[in-house]
Order: sequence, then C-alpha cells, then structure tokens
Amino acid sequence: MEVRLLGTGDAIGTPKVGCSCAQCRKGLETNRERLRTSLLVTVGGCCILVDSGPDLRRQLLSSGSPVIDALVWTHGHYDHFMGYGEFYRVQDPPPVHASPEVLDYCGQVFSFLDFVRHPHAPFEPFEIGGATLTLVPVNHPPGPAYGLRIEADGAVLAYTADTRADIPSRSLDLLADADLLLIDAIAPAGYHISKHMTYDEALAIASSLRPKTFRCVHLAHLVPWDLPFIGQDGETFVLGDHVDVPPRPSSHPPHL
Ligand SMILES: [Zn+2]
Ligand SMILES: [Zn+2]
Ligand SMILES: [Zn+2]
Repeated sequence: MEVRLLGTGDAIGTPKVGCSCAQCRKGLETNRERLRTSLLVTVGGCCILVDSGPDLRRQLLSSGSPVIDALVWTHGHYDHFMGYGEFYRVQDPPPVHASPEVLDYCGQVFSFLDFVRHPHAPFEPFEIGGATLTLVPVNHPPGPAYGLRIEADGAVLAYTADTRADIPSRSLDLLADADLLLIDAIAPAGYHISKHMTYDEALAIASSLRPKTFRCVHLAHLVPWDLPFIGQDGETFVLGDHVDVPPRPSSHPPHL
C-alpha cells in the first residue's frame, strides 16, 4: 500500500491569502505550500482518493494525473469535498464511498454530475480493490465526521480526519497499532480550537495509539514548518508488502 499526502493544510491552506505572519512569509519566500488535506492511497494499482478538496486539480497534476478508481468523503466540509467538480470532463467522476448523511449532503451540491454512491455504516468494513476500509466516527461538531482505517498488503493506515481530541473509545481501538497514523493537528499548543486538535493533543493521542510512525496533517498557517512529525505535501509512504504493478496508460479517455 502506497500512501501519498496530497495536501496537509487546513480549510484555508498555507500560505493564507492576505496573511503576513512568519509562517506565511516563509512559505511565500521558499515556495512552500500546504494544500488542503487529502490522501492518495494506491493498492495493487487501484487508486483510492480520500477526500476531494478544492486543490484537487493541482494535487492530481503533481501526482502524475492518476485515474481515480474510488473516492471516500470523510465529512461534508468545503475543504474535503468541493473539488469533486474537478473530475468534470477529465475522467468519469469516480464512485464515492461515505456515510449515508455525508453522501446525501455532498451529493446535493454535485447533483449536476452523474456518479455512483456507495453508502456505508460506521464500523462496518467494506472493500475497494484489494483494500478493506472502515469508517471510524470521530468528534467534529456539529455534523457527522469519520476517520478511516484502511488495511491492505498486510499493513494498516489510520486517519483521524478532522476531529477534537475526545474521540470515542471504540474508534480509538480501530485507529490503534497502525503502520502509519495521520492525525489532525490544526494549531500549535496553547490555542483553543473547538472542532480540532492542537499539536500537543495530537502527539498525546499518537503516543497512546502506538503507530509505527505518524504524521500531523490538517495544519493551519499557525503551525511552524519544521516541527517534528509534521506532514509535508507530497510525502509518500510505502506500507506492508508493496507489490509493483505496471503503471496504467496515463492518457485519460477523452471527455471533451
Ligand atoms: Zn477540514
Ligand atoms: Zn499566516
Ligand atoms: Zn471539517
């Protein structure tokens, strides 16, 4: 299983438009960015996209324009699904897997697209290609939001998505002992954030979940670029028994 961090930023992205803080200035000076958080998970040649934020076009281009076989929406916030329209006339909009409420909400926005919807109940594993996925309820008020457990090639990826630190214990069990944990850490320690975790909260949860390795994602512009365990856009991990699969033709079918 290959996991690529397509973006590691929060809903705003870094640099933040109009901001002159030290992090944003440094980003502009050194040409660094944090696009909105999204993952590309590849298992046996099957490309699974986790969330389709508004930076999707650039994220696909910087990943070699993969054809996306399936998409998972974690929740119905702008920064996690609004880029779905980027598939229009590029490839057939991929089938979407999500909880019924998230599918209903996001599907209304994209009612102009004809796409296949696969509703899934939380805690009930489902298959995409050679991967087993489970929607893991987290705590991101007011709407429903889900992390993910993805098992493939003998490895486990755990993703908390957007959440507060008080994640239900049954969900924590599913996020534990992963090969790679990706965890929400929107702000440095000392900030009070009602819907997300701060960096120190993320490190405490990561410590209790005992992953082989972890990265903080969904980072606001407030988070320094060089903190330990901070995810980087484009960072790629190979987990478990990775099987090399010949690349598919990169040319997409015409959608003129
Ligand atoms: Zn978000
Ligand atoms: Zn800033
Ligand atoms: Zn959110």
